[in-house]
Amino acid sequence: MQADKIFKINHGICLKCGGCVAAYPEIFEFDENQKILIKENVEIKSEDLEKIKGVCPVAAIIEK
Ligand code: SF4
Repeated sequence: MQADKIFKINHGICLKCGGCVAAYPEIFEFDENQKILIKENVEIKSEDLEKIKGVCPVAAIIEK
């Protein structure tokens, strides 16, 4: 499963803390406006979904 097909960021509540980028740099990155992007074509395992969402302190990483 591809991360960008599964997840989206609730930018309204994202703190831009960088926690997701630090934990999963292969999935998340900041764009030039310090907005979190989910990289394309990154394969993740279904058993890791909750762990990945769990890195966000405000639950801004949500499933589509
Ligand atoms: S961990 Fe959550 S609040 Fe922090 S930058 Fe990522 S999506 Fe935003």
